[in-house]
Amino acid sequence: MTEQQKTRIRARLNERVDLLTRRAQALDLTLEHCPDETDQASELARHSLDLALRERESGQLREAQMALARIDSPRFGQCEDCGADIGTARLLARPSTRLCVCCQAEFEQGLSACA
Ligand SMILES: [Zn+2]
Repeated sequence: MTEQQKTRIRARLNERVDLLTRRAQALDLTLEHCPDETDQASELARHSLDLALRERESGQLREAQMALARIDSPRFGQCEDCGADIGTARLLARPSTRLCVCCQAEFEQGLSACA
């Protein structure tokens, strides 16, 4: 990986941290009390969706922050499972990824795709 590629990945990660931090602050997690039962039901549905969204995005935020902390390590860009190069294209698309394509597939689907 060249310094220029690393700079691009770092910029992606910083953008992501910024965006996710702003979204977390903008999310309204208060549960309104509605006198109407139908309104209350849709308010409850909105609230649980927002909670799930915050849960998912706070995980993504942590991953992006961890990737920023790792980016200067000589092992950044290497698969944490098999040690293979993750590849710059994949890192640019998913900068917080820690696994190569085949280990990721194995992790997600239980497939053994690694050569
Ligand atoms: Zn791997």
